Amino acid sequence: MLRFEEARARVIEVISTGAQRASVESIRLGESLNRVLAQPVVSDRDYPPFHRSVRDGYAVRSVDLLSGSSLLTCVGEIKAGQHFKGVLGPGQCVQIMTGAPLPEGADAVVMIEFTSRKEDYVSIQRGVACGENVVERGAESKRGDVLIPGGSRIRITDIALMAQVGVDRPTVFRMPTVAVLSTGDEVVDASQTPGAFQIRNSNSFSLAGLVEMAGGEAVSLGNSPDEISALRKRILQGLEADILVISGGVSMGKYDLVEAVLRDLGAEFFFAAVAIRPGKPTVFGRCRDHFFFGLPGNPISTMVTFGLFVRPAIDILGGASVGPLLLAAARLAVEVRQKNGLKGFLPARLEREGNEVRVRTLSWQGSGDLVALSRSDCFLIFPDDQECLKAGEYVTVVFLLN
Ligand code: AMP
Ligand code: MG
Repeated sequence: MLRFEEARARVIEVISTGAQRASVESIRLGESLNRVLAQPVVSDRDYPPFHRSVRDGYAVRSVDLLSGSSLLTCVGEIKAGQHFKGVLGPGQCVQIMTGAPLPEGADAVVMIEFTSRKEDYVSIQRGVACGENVVERGAESKRGDVLIPGGSRIRITDIALMAQVGVDRPTVFRMPTVAVLSTGDEVVDASQTPGAFQIRNSNSFSLAGLVEMAGGEAVSLGNSPDEISALRKRILQGLEADILVISGGVSMGKYDLVEAVLRDLGAEFFFAAVAIRPGKPTVFGRCRDHFFFGLPGNPISTMVTFGLFVRPAIDILGGASVGPLLLAAARLAVEVRQKNGLKGFLPARLEREGNEVRVRTLSWQGSGDLVALSRSDCFLIFPDDQECLKAGEYVTVVFLLN
């Protein structure tokens, strides 16, 4: 059985070699959050475009202040957006605002807090180093520098930077479509009142949300009963999308028919089990030139396996470079035990204790326990060759749903 790192690498390898390049479109900057840049963003000019004052105060020649304090003559004022016509001479200063360009001849700014003024005379109470409170032209970026590489998923910081450099309609890749199909005779729509032995469909909602978060376009196919012809029809429909994600029906039960239906449709399977708990029966394959994932139907298994395996697939088909899993180390707050053999993903919560971040697993009733999951903010990765992690040990946590 594949370890989860191997299974994830397999997804990345298969999809990277099999995928066609996504087409591109140009969209409004304000709507580009989480989309994938198809072109690098380049600095349109030097930043800052001039030697910029970062304080309100007086632009000075630092040599005039070598003695520590001095009396200078103020010969003008510069607001942000304007400039000083002239050159600062010995013994002179110019009042300057944050964001304004340093006048010629000046090489530093003294904060207003360290000055006092009487008419045009400014008394300065401290020395200043050359360059103090000034960001030199081009210190942040030079015209033509690549600021954000193509293939980046756009974050809010990128949107601000694109606004700065005038990219108001970024060119992005089209989002891959991801069909979401839930299966199970016992599953009813969230809007319905379930019968005594039925459950409401949560996976269609969690998966559609995870698809959107991952940067895909979710196409909901609802729920299919565990019946061959109904499954076949929905699966064929789902295979029109770039990726088909199926929840449920991939375990060993008599009515777990998803794999059989896919096999019958000529599917190729890259893996059909991964050494993790929850999530062991996860299936990944290709059928009629489209990729599919069969995720176990227990709500937490579905979400964990989505985060581990489907998310990188959406990245690649969406033109993004696949980032590493978001792992962190934290000290365990209380002892945790687990049967060994499979790597565990346990819902957990980070908490602060003094200056330290600790992690605490939540008491849970297994992979159907959405109540516990909703109280968690990460997963503790439980090693497959251990049965006990002791309080105070450093453990690894992973953020899969953030
Ligand atoms: P399965 O993987 O089909 O064996 O399902 C495993 C468990 O997950 C069973 O308890 C199902 O009732 C439950 N389950 C399956 N599909 C869903 C769904 N869409 N929403 C909530 N629970 C589900
Ligand atoms: Mg089922």
